[in-house]
Amino acid sequence: MSQTYDVSFRPPIRSLALALRAAGYAAFLTENATDLDEETSIAVLEAAGSFLANEFAPLNRRGDIDGARIDAEGVHPTLGFSEAYQAFANNGWNALAADPRWGGEGLPKALEFAVFEMAQAANASLAICPMLTQGAIEALVQHGTPRQQALVLPRLISGAWTGTMNLTEPQAGTDLAAVVTRADPDAQGGYRLNGQKIFISWGDHDMTENICHLVLARLPNSPPGISGISLFLATKFEVGADGAPGARNGIYCSSIEKKLGIHGSPTCVMMLEDAHAELVGDIGKGVAQMFTMMNSARLHVGIQGVGLAERAYQQALSYALGRKQGRTILGSSGLIIDHPDVRRMLGLMRAKTDAARGLCLTTAVLADRAAHGDKAAKRRSELLTPIAKAWSTDVGVEVASLALQVQGGMGFIEETGAAQYYRDARIGPIYEGTNGIQALDLIGRKLAGDGGEAMMSLIDDMVAEGPLALQPSVEALRSATAWLLSHPGADALAGATAYLKLAGDVVGGFMLWRQVQAAGIASEWDRSRMSIFNLYVSQVLSGAAGQAQAVTAGAADLGPWTYAIN
Ligand SMILES: Cc1cc2nc3c(=O)[nH]c(=O)nc-3n(C[C@H](O)[C@H](O)[C@H](O)COP(=O)(O)OP(=O)(O)OC[C@H]3O[C@@H](n4cnc5c(N)ncnc54)[C@H](O)[C@@H]3O)c2cc1C
Repeated sequence: MSQTYDVSFRPPIRSLALALRAAGYAAFLTENATDLDEETSIAVLEAAGSFLANEFAPLNRRGDIDGARIDAEGVHPTLGFSEAYQAFANNGWNALAADPRWGGEGLPKALEFAVFEMAQAANASLAICPMLTQGAIEALVQHGTPRQQALVLPRLISGAWTGTMNLTEPQAGTDLAAVVTRADPDAQGGYRLNGQKIFISWGDHDMTENICHLVLARLPNSPPGISGISLFLATKFEVGADGAPGARNGIYCSSIEKKLGIHGSPTCVMMLEDAHAELVGDIGKGVAQMFTMMNSARLHVGIQGVGLAERAYQQALSYALGRKQGRTILGSSGLIIDHPDVRRMLGLMRAKTDAARGLCLTTAVLADRAAHGDKAAKRRSELLTPIAKAWSTDVGVEVASLALQVQGGMGFIEETGAAQYYRDARIGPIYEGTNGIQALDLIGRKLAGDGGEAMMSLIDDMVAEGPLALQPSVEALRSATAWLLSHPGADALAGATAYLKLAGDVVGGFMLWRQVQAAGIASEWDRSRMSIFNLYVSQVLSGAAGQAQAVTAGAADLGPWTYAIN
């Protein structure tokens, strides 16, 4: 490396605290008479940030280089991951927002997401493991039997076990109706699972005494399609009433994938051979039950995009503050940060990262309000969830790419670690429902589902609260929304991804405006929120009208030429 620069992770506590305040977090705490206040929440973030910077971040590069390995005994994660994971669990970070009935700390989900943003920034590969456990916890809280809850939830919440999602099969990716793994009833009232799952994150490891697998499978003689699929719980080691691990169950990893990024997260091919399992919830409701917990899982993946964007930005900034090149225009330092184009890139990265953080944490606070019975908050959090997932993961890739650009050739060289964030971020738009599918969810279930009511109410709020500079883009979103609602079918589907981007861009701008308001003008840092908003308006929102044209272009130009190879 010709130039050394700071590549450590610096927890963005001030930005997280601001995004939470702008998202109405403090008001939520007061209105719902929780014991927690804003100050204590920030202290929690500081403790988490310091732990993650010290324990997770130093292992990130090793995870990328060494990855996980598999032998006859199973999967062994990167050296050091196990100890870091144990410390994470022992410090209670796994239990933050979980239900106190099973040992959770009962804190708001929004705080959990803020902590997980830092975990993802510090070491995304390792953070994926407890992220999936959160999904398993949610599924069992909502659909588990009292016995399953009493036996499994305390272990998942404490982190003594981890959880997985065994959904995907070679022929069943986006289309889970094509799942063929079989579940045959056995003589003891349980089930035996047989089949193969692919791409299962953290499907095996030796960091904990047991693993709780949630598996989609099909009973014999079940109807074809989604209504024939049920959800099952199978543990790596069979357990009796006391929960102690016993004999090895017939669910194991046969190989791990070599892949573009997140090398430290083992992506497993799972074989199910007469695996003992129990039904979770109702027969035939497996996919619907998985979808109820997927809202939180989608938000976690959105937060992963934000975390990686933050980390990539920090490294690019540090490079720009140390690299001298040419005669500079905005100052006489000779540092590349004093070139207008480098400042443009860094400003765009900062603005998009803050906007995506605002979007995800606002969605999380709305979900917290929804959990307290607020129906309007529930509708809005459901509307924002696909946008938070897809837009924030796209921001993760874009910001990580800009970070490479700022670091020039050094960004492209693996030694600096900049390339890892770009490679790690690339999975976000693919898993937990591809971003194309999020766009279909947005225009189908969320827009057409209520005739555009939830979106129009958000648009009205942006008109009422937002400054003049935001309004042209809000109007572009309004007219694109009206067009989609009056053009169902192929034309609307062709514009879905463009619409999600437009919605993300505009709502992202609104999030930045709320941060301007929440920050005030006391310090230079507070005042700089206005510049970030202005830069976002000129660099991003100036394209809203053109983006609306992409939404309304229709399907006429999409084929059949797309079949041609030459
Ligand atoms: C690293 C990694 C980790 C993963 N972890 C897990 C895990 O822990 N558990 C698990 O169960 N799965 C996991 N997955 C699987 C992941 O969720 C799937 O890869 C994803 O759902 C997409 O499925 P697919 O790869 O089969 O793509 P396909 O379904 O073949 O899709 C290919 C393309 O076609 C588009 N497409 C497909 N259907 C439609 C449609 N109806 N309308 C419009 N466009 C469509 C998609 O958007 C996509 O662009 C993981 C995958 C990877 C790579």
